[in-house]
Amino acid sequence: MTIRIAIIGFGKIARTEHVPAIAAHPEFELVAVVAPNGADEAGVPVFASLAEMLAAMPGEVDAVSLCTPPSVRHAIAAEAIAAGIAVMLEKPPAATFGELEDLEARARTAGTCLFAAWHSQHAPAVAPAADLLKGETVTQLAIEWREDVNRWHPGQEWIWEPEGFGVLDTGINALSIASAILPQPLFVEAAEFTIPSNRQTPIAARIRFVGGELGAAFDWRETHEEVREIHVATASGRRVAIVEGGARLIADGTEHPLGPFAEYPALYARFAALVPDRAIDVDSAPMRILADAALIARRLSTAAHG
Ligand code: NAP
Repeated sequence: MTIRIAIIGFGKIARTEHVPAIAAHPEFELVAVVAPNGADEAGVPVFASLAEMLAAMPGEVDAVSLCTPPSVRHAIAAEAIAAGIAVMLEKPPAATFGELEDLEARARTAGTCLFAAWHSQHAPAVAPAADLLKGETVTQLAIEWREDVNRWHPGQEWIWEPEGFGVLDTGINALSIASAILPQPLFVEAAEFTIPSNRQTPIAARIRFVGGELGAAFDWRETHEEVREIHVATASGRRVAIVEGGARLIADGTEHPLGPFAEYPALYARFAALVPDRAIDVDSAPMRILADAALIARRLSTAAHG
């Protein structure tokens, strides 16, 4: 089966990850791009909006991959679902928890495929870590995610706007891994957001979860050694560490052999399996955690950024 797909939002992640992953997958064919300000080098027809594309290519697009910032995602996804098109959502899948619930309800009513694509859940360490933790009782969780915002989001102003999530745009990747590997759901007990005085969203954040020594720390001010680690201890004495963002797994002190790091090819393999069945795959737990954290977070102000 050939799945004719269009990319909507042709920025950094669309170019660096989605285009090569689509090209490498035998079932997907990139047929169009939607980019309001143009995309000369796309190699396929480029449209200013989804509506313009649907008018020019009626019945010629089976699926869309939404690679815009989250603020505009709900409206575009709702339009695609109404047109009967399968939808893949980049993370975070929407700007609010309510928007995500609404998209899922719309896809169910319309009988269309909807995939909330958490790329970090497809890092090679995640599935084996979930197996190792199956049936365990988690007693300790330490998520530490420190990156350099200027490396991953150079010049992107939207991440500092109210619907841009700030450091939690990255932190939600760690939460998506936690959601996939932990045998119990996480519930927010307390949170602290550190916000630059000239910005709307946090540059650093801490979340404490219900249940003892369970916590997460995210920071976008790391300019030396980036860290993306999740350490889990269980009541039975099991120790599982996901390091390098899921590229490595250390189980009870021993390095666990893993396959290659290929998150986006794995995402498209999953989407290819969902499209023919018009299936829905939406893990909303990472959005619920962030929404709860935002409801009760203590806000601290820090030096202006940028
Ligand atoms: P980006 O480089 O700013 O790209 C976003 C693109 O969306 C821009 O080309 C923008 O066009 C376009 N856009 C904005 N509104 C649009 C609309 N209404 N219709 C169509 N296109 C629209 O951002 P990015 O880094 O690719 O991030 C996009 C998403 O991917 C975010 O949710 C992010 O969390 C996720 N992601 C990013 C990374 C990363 O390393 N950067 C990694 C994984 C996932 P204009 O610039 O012309 O406005």
